[in-house]
Amino acid sequence: MVTLAQARDWMVDFRVQVVEHEDMLTELDREVGDADHGSNLARGMNAVAALDIAAFGDTSAYLKKAGMTLVSTVGGASGPLYGTFLLRLAGAIDQGLAAAFRAGLDGVIMRGKAEPGDKTMVDVLVPAVKALEASDDAAGLQAAASAAADARDAIIPLVARKGRASYLGERSAGHGDPGATSMVMLLEAAARTLA
Ligand code: ADP
Ligand code: MG
Repeated sequence: MVTLAQARDWMVDFRVQVVEHEDMLTELDREVGDADHGSNLARGMNAVAALDIAAFGDTSAYLKKAGMTLVSTVGGASGPLYGTFLLRLAGAIDQGLAAAFRAGLDGVIMRGKAEPGDKTMVDVLVPAVKALEASDDAAGLQAAASAAADARDAIIPLVARKGRASYLGERSAGHGDPGATSMVMLLEAAARTLA
């Protein structure tokens, strides 16, 4: 059971990570894209962190609003993808964390059509969801964050096949993926707040 206060703490923790690492995320996106991932996500999470949980009846309603806020403030490819992730996750949050994160991942795949190995945020979400499905608790959240961080590093040598980075072709190899890197921060924030 994720309480409203926990969900808020999750979003606030993620916002702190994004703002703290805004320049690093933007630098990653400068190497393979258009140098806007850090600033876009920081703008979106500042808006989400400003939401007052007193205005929401339950966790699901709050996280849905957070998702809609990201869709309307982040822009680019990652705005709709992060937004869909949270909207779908919110819709399944009462079924437990594993089901909620699985629903979020399914939403990202439905919207972005990326497959594992395409070098996107999907690559870090897949092992994270598997870890949660193996252990739907605090330990599972830790395992999910750690599996995601491993995947973020493991995809660096790959050639990107989706999004702007794919325009670089072979030259995308050797660079980290901005969206995978920020998604690890969301999972690490979840491990700190939702356990
Ligand atoms: P844009 O590429 O429009 O500037 P951002 O820079 O904010 O958007 O986000 C780029 C990130 O979005 C990538 O690093 C990747 O992780 C993710 N991404 C892009 N396209 C897709 C897709 N089709 N499916 C999943 N993730 C994607
Ligand atoms: Mg970009």
